[in-house]
Amino acid sequence: MRCPYCQALDSRVLESRASDDQSLVRRRRECTACGRRFTTYERVELVPLKVIKKDKSREEFDRDKIRRGISRACEKRPITTDQIEDLVDTVEQAIRVDFEREVPTAEVGERVMGFLKDLDPVAYVRFASVYREFHDLKSFTDEIMRFLRQKESDAD
Ligand SMILES: [Zn+2]
Repeated sequence: MRCPYCQALDSRVLESRASDDQSLVRRRRECTACGRRFTTYERVELVPLKVIKKDKSREEFDRDKIRRGISRACEKRPITTDQIEDLVDTVEQAIRVDFEREVPTAEVGERVMGFLKDLDPVAYVRFASVYREFHDLKSFTDEIMRFLRQKESDAD
């Protein structure tokens, strides 16, 4: 960070303090050349995330789209809007940890299902039925059976 007084490039950090929500860090610096002090602010920048669709085309990662899909699956279920919002946050954060810039759309759906499963089984099955595009009753019931078996083994 260039010193605003003498333009020297070297400075020493005297103090770092994060804002309450941890989104901003304030650093008090001292220029090693002229000894004057200045403050810098550091903020997280989210790089744009793209979704790779089945036909290999890319589009912007869209939180609204995910929220709509989850809301539809949660219709008439005891899930609050806040819970849905939290779920969208969790999914986005998990994806950003594992994928830097591009994520296959299939992966997004899998992540949603993974978290939805713990939140509400009915919403999970609904979401899965739309998302996995079950074309016949058998693949749908297979998924439900797999889910129930897993629930049983979780309970053991
Ligand atoms: Zn300086």
